[in-house]
Amino acid sequence: NIAFLNGEYLPLEQARISPLDRGFLFGEGVYEVIPAIQGRAIALVPHIHRLLQGMRALEIKPAWAMDDWRNLCEALIEKNTDASISSNLGIYLHVSRGADKRRFHAYPEGLQPTIFGFAFELQESCLHSPDIKKTLSVITAEDLRWQRCHIKSTSLLGNVMHFQQGQAAGSDEAILHNANGNVTEASAANVFLVKDGTVITPPLEQQLLPGITRMMLLDILRRHTEIPVEERPVQLQELRSADEVWLTSSTKGVTPVTRIDGEPVASGEAGELWQRLNPVFHQHKFDY
Ligand code: PLP
Repeated sequence: NIAFLNGEYLPLEQARISPLDRGFLFGEGVYEVIPAIQGRAIALVPHIHRLLQGMRALEIKPAWAMDDWRNLCEALIEKNTDASISSNLGIYLHVSRGADKRRFHAYPEGLQPTIFGFAFELQESCLHSPDIKKTLSVITAEDLRWQRCHIKSTSLLGNVMHFQQGQAAGSDEAILHNANGNVTEASAANVFLVKDGTVITPPLEQQLLPGITRMMLLDILRRHTEIPVEERPVQLQELRSADEVWLTSSTKGVTPVTRIDGEPVASGEAGELWQRLNPVFHQHKFDY
């Protein structure tokens, strides 16, 4: 498994960072996970744009342009496909503020950001094949994270705790809602529902990540189907009475949720619209 760390390609086991790296001490960094199917990165440009946006928000400034990031992704795909990890990879990219001489909250001047990347085997999802029929069960929980969930931060403690809450309850994931009962997202995915033929998802704001898979799905629906789409606040109750619920992410693709808090979603099977859209999503050639 070949990784990249601060300008060098090396076996992942040999990659070392300083314990004074602020990514380690403060969780001060941003990251991306980009799916690469059969050697081709999917939606690379929007992923890199989101990474650059996150770096701007944190005032981290490595002197890297879009092409440098693209080259890094392509090299990780090539080196790890050669090493035969898998032909379907998740490319993980990570930038943290870098190592300081001491632990002090303020942003230090002139640090060299830490840039790290590696590849892992991507679990099977509809991105690989339209025949993957995995479904998910979820719990619901009040969203106890922070007010900047639109930044893809490496500080994932809130997400990890919510994900674990789902696992501890014997479910796959946790769908989160704020104190008003509005759904935000899941702990590692965006949320969609279908009601009477309309596809609905919560609008982008600071309480959820602008998911790239979410964007791709909305793009396909709007440009290639007549299916009505709404981006609007979603009440938890609407999820419980939805015809279909889906989670989207770069590692899950678009996956149906068939149980919420132990109760079936509609018939408790992957829904009709998902069955129709799944091959369309799989075959679509994204031009970004
Ligand atoms: N929301 C959260 C909290 C996530 O961690 C993720 C992905 O890991 C997503 C949404 C989905 O984003 P994307 O489709 O860009 O993978």
